Amino acid sequence: MSVDTVDNLLKRHNLSVTDSRKKILEIFKEQNNALAHSDVEKRTGEKFDRVTIYRTLQTFVEKGIIHTIPTADNAVMYALCKDECSAGHHHDKHIHFICDNCNTTYCLDSVVTPEVNLPEGFKPKLIDVVVTGICDNC
Ligand SMILES: [Zn+2]
Ligand SMILES: [Zn+2]
Ligand SMILES: [Zn+2]
Repeated sequence: MSVDTVDNLLKRHNLSVTDSRKKILEIFKEQNNALAHSDVEKRTGEKFDRVTIYRTLQTFVEKGIIHTIPTADNAVMYALCKDECSAGHHHDKHIHFICDNCNTTYCLDSVVTPEVNLPEGFKPKLIDVVVTGICDNC
């Protein structure tokens, strides 16, 4: 099988396969856009409680399976990582786009995060670039 199954993905990240992990990961795999906690909750059909979903999302972030995207209203969005991320090491060097019209958050994988020139003594750890505007569906 060439396609990485949800089970394989979990095992590769040293996670045991549980119902909630499987289901939530499937939701992310079906979806190209970023999802908020509430989107995940809706798509699981209220099968899991908020705490379970929250913990599962946190675990996925820690393990390098999904990454977070900050939004203007402080609602964190989550999106699936590409293969090179691992536990504690995210390498998602792409920018994010939030459409003002349809509110969809996109991972623009082809657009590399630009370098920033910081003053001497400042060391960047994470550069999150979020661009807002109108997407190609609108
Ligand atoms: Zn990542
Ligand atoms: Zn749009
Ligand atoms: Zn992304």
